Amino acid sequence: MTLPPTPLKTDRSALVARLAQPHTYDLAIIGGGATGLGVALDAVLRGLSVVLLESHDFAKGTSSRATKLVHGGVRYLAQGNISLVREALHERTNLLNNAPHLAQRLAFVMPSYHWWEAPFYGIGLKMYDVLAGKAGLGATEFLGPARTRACLPTVSEHDLSGGVKYWDGQFDDARLALTLARTAAAHGALVVNYCEAVGLIHEAGRVAGVHVRDTESGQELDVRARCVVNATGVWVDALRQQDGEALGRVSKPIVAPSQGVHLVVDREFLPGNHALMVPKTADGRVLFAVPWLGKVILGTTDTPRKDLAREPEPFAEEIAFILSESARYLQRAPRREDVRSVWVGLRPLVKPPEDDGGNTKAISREHTVAISRSGLVTVTGGKWTTYRSMAEDVLNKCRESGLMPAHMPGSRTAHFALVGAPQPDAPTTPICEAPGPHLYGLERGLLEQLPGQGVMLAPNLSEAMVRFAARYEYARTVEDVLARRNRLLFLDARAAAAAAPAVAAVLAQELGVAVPIEDFLKLTQRYLTLP
Ligand SMILES: Cc1cc2nc3c(=O)[nH]c(=O)nc-3n(C[C@H](O)[C@H](O)[C@H](O)COP(=O)(O)OP(=O)(O)OC[C@H]3O[C@@H](n4cnc5c(N)ncnc54)[C@H](O)[C@@H]3O)c2cc1C
Repeated sequence: MTLPPTPLKTDRSALVARLAQPHTYDLAIIGGGATGLGVALDAVLRGLSVVLLESHDFAKGTSSRATKLVHGGVRYLAQGNISLVREALHERTNLLNNAPHLAQRLAFVMPSYHWWEAPFYGIGLKMYDVLAGKAGLGATEFLGPARTRACLPTVSEHDLSGGVKYWDGQFDDARLALTLARTAAAHGALVVNYCEAVGLIHEAGRVAGVHVRDTESGQELDVRARCVVNATGVWVDALRQQDGEALGRVSKPIVAPSQGVHLVVDREFLPGNHALMVPKTADGRVLFAVPWLGKVILGTTDTPRKDLAREPEPFAEEIAFILSESARYLQRAPRREDVRSVWVGLRPLVKPPEDDGGNTKAISREHTVAISRSGLVTVTGGKWTTYRSMAEDVLNKCRESGLMPAHMPGSRTAHFALVGAPQPDAPTTPICEAPGPHLYGLERGLLEQLPGQGVMLAPNLSEAMVRFAARYEYARTVEDVLARRNRLLFLDARAAAAAAPAVAAVLAQELGVAVPIEDFLKLTQRYLTLP
């Protein structure tokens, strides 16, 4: 199927009107993060009629808060989880090929300070290459101290004995989520943000649809579907519980949330185009310093969390851990006042049966698909990198369990270019460089035709980009623009606050309503405040 020459305009009142029309969809998906959007795209390409409902904005949950790695997971290799690593390495290649404007390979260097470190970790990484096979992005190399320094110009030099260089990928997670939404929509799916699933419709003991509330207008409506997928990330248990209660059953929670914190600092702390990887921190974790969109991300942590805040806050120990570990490996230690933004994500880890709520580092990153007695399909866990294979698995399991017809076609997403994707080998600006029109891929021309192309509202954010976000990318608020279409909130929260009034003014013109900034300004404070 070929894409329309110009993208679909995102006229929200038309989308809600379409949602209100009486219709029984083949599939209703609740949750517009990586998982739900992946399922929507896979399903619509198989010819199903699809609706996806997101209570907030696409990728507002965990899917905008990743470390931005498209990776097999060196850490999971150390845990011996070979099948997960092999699958993720395969999916890494699919993702890099299907969205080269948003996901690219990146070199990582692991500096070594003891004679045994380079051979010990290097052998593991050579195995990573072997597992990747044809999907490999480049051979692992052993580096001497001079080459290690050339790759990581600010690496701590005291006792530096060399390093190991290997290849993985990196991406812009929130823009990829939007691209999935837009690709699914371009092929006929109805995807709507700011529409919350407030309950499930049950008929004769089977789930038959979703009670929905448009959170902008408060309007409530019912959306009917033959199959309902709960892809709400760390929030899946709330819907599972409702489903259980409707049938008089108790549904045990399956998610063990784990928090990960990232700090963003200027590129001068790690210039160049290599990421730094610490395989074992003082307390046995993995830490990355990753050049991303012109800044450097430091992270992350893995802290069990019981509450499910929309904007989780970091703990003081997590900040101290990231700063002190970074100080061990960088010549100039980042200080609290150097942090441009701090953001936190919740991993939807699937509980092992014997989970005692303690150590989440040991919980598998594999996904789970659970189908309840009513037919509610819940999918959670996994990684951004494997969103596509997770979606394929969900639909295949729906077919196996009779929720989808046996003659449903197979998945088409493995080699399917997403909206805006250039040819995989076309030259493009690396993701680690400052953001700009290159992130729009083949849609760059359309962006450049919009008014305000040369009018900059913030570093690397033009007025035209805000218009593009409103017209084609479902943006409704200042936060939508500055957190997920453009990533300024994640890169430099103070600059995002400064840009808010100008962004609101352009958005107001585009949407024809007043656009407030107060809530966004409060949010920027949270991204600037270290406990
Ligand atoms: C700190 C951290 C670092 C990570 N780094 C990486 C990485 O580098 N690489 C990688 O591959 N993976 C990484 N991951 C994992 C990856 O980010 C997640 O696996 C993935 O984003 C989960 O996506 P999801 O769609 O399941 O959940 P989410 O993105 O949270 O999506 C669920 C959505 O459901 C919506 N929702 C909830 N309730 C309702 C309702 N009632 N009605 C409608 N919508 C609802 C939410 O608003 C949310 O948008 C990381 C995760 C964390 C936390």
